[in-house]
Amino acid sequence: MTTIVLASGNRKKLDELQRILAAKAVNFVPQSTFDVRDADETGLSFVENALIKARHASALTQLPALADDSGIEVDALEGEPGIYSARFAAMHGKGNGDDANNALLLDLLKHTPEAQRRARYHCAIVLLRHARDPMPLICLGSWEGSILTTPRGAQGFGYDPLFYVPTHHCSAAELAPEIKNAISHRAIALRQLLQQWPHLSGDK
Ligand code: IMP
Repeated sequence: MTTIVLASGNRKKLDELQRILAAKAVNFVPQSTFDVRDADETGLSFVENALIKARHASALTQLPALADDSGIEVDALEGEPGIYSARFAAMHGKGNGDDANNALLLDLLKHTPEAQRRARYHCAIVLLRHARDPMPLICLGSWEGSILTTPRGAQGFGYDPLFYVPTHHCSAAELAPEIKNAISHRAIALRQLLQQWPHLSGDK
């Protein structure tokens, strides 16, 4: 069975990727199993950063690698935090991690009325067959919503408690994992990948 390295150190994100890919006839192994640390994300787009991560993991393991680079774009903040979503609070000197990121987002939007709180998640998934693969598979997904004024729900990760999902009238953190994993930016990008790569489309 083909083994593919998942190029991420984010446990919650890995969990979502592994759940969505669980039934596939491919062995997905997190990069931590091979002692691969996170690559420096020096790109200026989700696609560039996903390529950097996948290439890094593939080069160190000599295996095909799949990477996800994702984040949230907030219209009222001119697209911030964007590719810096994971490091948002840290970059503003306001601490580290999901709680700090959410607190900063709420603070920056405290005077922004509901109608102007539109936002969307983006996800770029890259699959490299090997580190020098000149033809990476690149799949993209976006998920439209808006930013709540207070956190809601305990599922998911990252900005999910603040991300209102208009189609389901709740926050992303109030969605059951199987619902989020069917409709999210990550699910949309992974569905494309499964359609495009025959190895992945077979079920176990
Ligand atoms: P990355 O690991 O560098 O791609 O950073 C992804 C960051 O974007 C996460 O740390 C979260 O802050 C945010 N993010 C991406 N996808 C999601 C999601 O599905 N829910 C909540 N936050 C997300």
